[in-house]
Amino acid sequence: MAEPRIGVYPGTFDPITLGHLDIIRRGTRVVDHLIVAIAGNDGKNPLFSLEDRLAMVEGDIGGIEDTGTRIEVRPFDGLLVSFAQEVGAGLILRGLRAVSDFEYEFQMVGMNSRLAPALETVFLMAADNCQFISSRFVKEICRLGGDISQFVTPAVAQKLKARLKGA
Ligand code: ADP
Repeated sequence: MAEPRIGVYPGTFDPITLGHLDIIRRGTRVVDHLIVAIAGNDGKNPLFSLEDRLAMVEGDIGGIEDTGTRIEVRPFDGLLVSFAQEVGAGLILRGLRAVSDFEYEFQMVGMNSRLAPALETVFLMAADNCQFISSRFVKEICRLGGDISQFVTPAVAQKLKARLKGA
């Protein structure tokens, strides 16, 4: 039997949105074992702690129907390629939104492929109703009292409101 295909989907997930979830769902069609890797501190100064971000992703992926692909959520720190090698992944999955993502992603693939030539990066596009969703704007809209129910799951919306109230 062929070796299981392991993929890493890395991100900040501050917090996880329906866009991320759509990419995770699509990722399960591409790999046999999907590791959602939550970046610890990447200089982005996340609103939620690593523990909270992990818990929200864990909670949300519970809603993904069983596709036969194992989905695991793991924290990581340091170089993504080192983490991918450590867990035996051959693929890095990233989501691509508008043109604005392209430049950054293009550079990241270029650098990562120099560091680890055997690792392939695969880009997935979210469904059209999820493409414009970004964690940054969800936080901003919630902070200003807007309705975020189209962008995140009810559990995440509740956590976000509570977090911003306490902030
Ligand atoms: P990072 O800090 O690594 O950009 P994010 O959590 O913002 O972390 O995003 C993780 C990945 O998910 C990135 O590849 C990003 O482009 C992708 N992504 C986020 N939101 C969406 C979306 N709405 N549609 C498609 N891809 C998305």
